[in-house]
Amino acid sequence: MKGVVVRRALWESRRFRGRGYSGACAADDVNELPKMPPFDYTPPPYSGPTAAQILAKRKEFLSPSIFHFYGKPVNIVHGKMQYLFDEKGRRYLDGFGGIATVCCGHCHPDVVKAIVNQTNNLQHSTILYLNHAITDFAEALASKIPGDLKVVFFTNSGTEANELAIMMARLYTANHDIVSLRNAYHGNAAGTMGATAQSNWKFNVVQTGMHHALNPDPYRGVFGSDGLKYARDVEDLIKFGTSGHVAGFMSEAIQGVGGIVELAPNYLPSVYESIRKAGGLCIADEVQSGFARTGTHFWGFETQGVVPDIVTMAKGIGNGIPLGAVVTTPKVAEVLTRRSYFNTFGGNPVCTAAGLAVLKVIERENLQENARVVGSYLKDRFNALKDKHEIIGDVRGRGLMLGIELVTDRTLKTPAKNEIARVMELMKDMGVLVGKGGFYGNVFRVTPPLCFNKEDADFMVDAMDYAMSKI
Ligand code: PMP
Repeated sequence: MKGVVVRRALWESRRFRGRGYSGACAADDVNELPKMPPFDYTPPPYSGPTAAQILAKRKEFLSPSIFHFYGKPVNIVHGKMQYLFDEKGRRYLDGFGGIATVCCGHCHPDVVKAIVNQTNNLQHSTILYLNHAITDFAEALASKIPGDLKVVFFTNSGTEANELAIMMARLYTANHDIVSLRNAYHGNAAGTMGATAQSNWKFNVVQTGMHHALNPDPYRGVFGSDGLKYARDVEDLIKFGTSGHVAGFMSEAIQGVGGIVELAPNYLPSVYESIRKAGGLCIADEVQSGFARTGTHFWGFETQGVVPDIVTMAKGIGNGIPLGAVVTTPKVAEVLTRRSYFNTFGGNPVCTAAGLAVLKVIERENLQENARVVGSYLKDRFNALKDKHEIIGDVRGRGLMLGIELVTDRTLKTPAKNEIARVMELMKDMGVLVGKGGFYGNVFRVTPPLCFNKEDADFMVDAMDYAMSKI
């Protein structure tokens, strides 16, 4: 550990070359440190408050529930594509993408242009008047979704989208019970906190009609990768835990907050069949796994060959603009006409103009294919790292939605909570930001902007390798 402290101090002292710091170090002593790929870009000068000043104000004026990564948190003041810059102009490779949100890249010029143009024209009116931004985007979005899923209701967040989906399922079926998966995260409002199934994200408030099925988790689940065995648990839940009739089933295709857990193969087709037999609707939460992130498919649910009745989305839909959506069939959508249902900002022209620009960028820049190619390369490299470092218990996920679970004992799968924090901090010191999650907080979440390239992948893995060899 002493060696790394010395090298880090050396490296820290040489890490800036004016504002155009490239991330690479010239000194011999630091030659062994992984080198950040070059990036020909200089962020504008920053003259705002320091990290310490912001932290003090956060403590005084923001909710005490707000937390931050890292013992010494970073003050991120600028972003460009797959890179972020701190207050001193230091560049970081962004391996987290603002929690799987920035899909096209930070401040992608096309998305910025769409936002600025729309803001200059009309920032907000109300859905009670006509405007083409919302219909243009709804049409484009519907064209990306299979089956008869073509009616869109816009919201401002993933929570709102999932709340609406749950309510629509209940209204449509006239049933109440919802089945979701243990270890799921679906939001933090009344209904969605019920569907969320991790105690650390749930308050002790009334959450009715929610049933949490065994998680089809190939690494920690009781049936390993046998998707059909887990599916039988849903059948049992319906039989023994409900009246035999359910409103619906909600799941992510790859659990994000839960630590990048890809559902065991063949799980969803069987569960969807059971749910539909019990009168329920199948809801796919694509908040993290949607928008080309898995590489092989545009939507996560497609990896299991199913077509849901309702699809919810947020995060990547707007590349960082607050936007969410519920997409369903005309028949299911009809239920909302029974009363008035309205959302002031949902489908706001600025947000929907951004959404349309995002879709165009994903297509034009072939980001899905990039996520597939770079994602498989990155996963192979993480798997090779697993052969080298005993602390890596599992490498999983698809495309640019990857998880690396750290354990102190591979047989007992003991979560390496302290070790992961140290590796993460060292990686940050080397200029690589990754996410962290999973119920035990011991899983690296790698969800970078989809413009991430192979050089970035090499740098990230080399930095993780280096950090792991030093703890
Ligand atoms: N669903 C999933 C799968 C999520 O990961 C999240 C957020 N982490 C949500 C829903 C809720 O989204 P929001 O934070 O935008 O309300």
